[in-house]
Amino acid sequence: MQKLGVLGGTFDPIHEGHMALAREALRCGGLDGVVFLPMARPAHREAAASAEDRMKMCALALAGNHRFLLSSAGGKAYVQYTADTLLPLKKEFPRAALTLILGADKLATLPYWRDADKLFSQCDFLCFPRPGVSPDAALEKAKSAGARIAMMPEFSTPYSATLIRTQTAQYQDAPGLNKRVLCYMAENGLYQPDLTPRLRSMMSPKRFQHTLGVRKEAVRLAAIHGLPIQKAALAALLHDCAKGMNLKDMSRLAREQHLTESEAVLSSGALLHAPVGAYLAKKEFGIRDEEVLSAIRSHTVGRPGMSLLEMCIFVADATEEGREDYPGLKELRALCGQSLPAAVYRSLELTREYVEETGRTFDPASLDTMNYVEGLLTQKDKRLLADVR
Ligand code: FE
Ligand code: FE
Repeated sequence: MQKLGVLGGTFDPIHEGHMALAREALRCGGLDGVVFLPMARPAHREAAASAEDRMKMCALALAGNHRFLLSSAGGKAYVQYTADTLLPLKKEFPRAALTLILGADKLATLPYWRDADKLFSQCDFLCFPRPGVSPDAALEKAKSAGARIAMMPEFSTPYSATLIRTQTAQYQDAPGLNKRVLCYMAENGLYQPDLTPRLRSMMSPKRFQHTLGVRKEAVRLAAIHGLPIQKAALAALLHDCAKGMNLKDMSRLAREQHLTESEAVLSSGALLHAPVGAYLAKKEFGIRDEEVLSAIRSHTVGRPGMSLLEMCIFVADATEEGREDYPGLKELRALCGQSLPAAVYRSLELTREYVEETGRTFDPASLDTMNYVEGLLTQKDKRLLADVR
């Protein structure tokens, strides 16, 4: 008979501590697999993320690990107690013997759980130690109440969901997260102040859609290129926050606040919304992170000295999935997964070709950026560029 551990929890979000516990349970409990059981409505606390998001994050974290399974038995609205999950679990895994995995802090109340007798007769228990909890007395009591319990000799983890949520609220990439989970969180703004209602009111629905597309693409690129993922998501979300303002208001604000000296920028909404956007991100959205503000400020024409995070936003703006097709877009999309400097260079080159074909002159600030980025190109970048031209 197959022996499966059952790890119920809020998973808000799932992290490396849960994974390590499941691996340890496999080893100590002689289990064939561990079923992760996210509880949609945890009995004793509110979850910060929705049941759907927590379930999706679990699926992302467990993907590719054939000994870790995911159950939706805790996902029903009526399910609140462990006993309620037993029947659906038995249906889902009819041929398995189930071992419930629980922390030593839960032992003392175990005999008083709802339908405890039924639980004791139908499954085993595997208990992991908790810091500061001495399980001995509770263990004896639970055993004499009829529970079959084995103890895990030791288990500890430096990760906690509470800490991860705090770090995430400050736009840090919290350690202890699976990269796919981290990307999902960033792409959906989980565990962060929700800036979207405000942002939505500042722009057209189409612009808002574009914004979400840029966030998705920026997260993808940041993950590929090892950049801070939450910062990329935040900069992308706010990059066009000034785009809904009219030029007159933007130039007045820009002059008052000395956001730029350039008359060319002051007279063009297409350029001016970038420095004004960085100003609004700081004043209206309370963003203090200079890396994020720079990425917003330089997203239209870049700048000499621009960082990789700035390049990430610059490129994501040009390649997001909702962009209407333009000549060279397909190749640019392929390029940005390989090299951000090469992609920035190519993007500016495409703009220059387009501008010159229509008989206008190329913006001098963009030319400065091109010259700067050209100096960063490696031999490999140059080959990549030659291939797409
Ligand atoms: Fe823009
Ligand atoms: Fe944009």
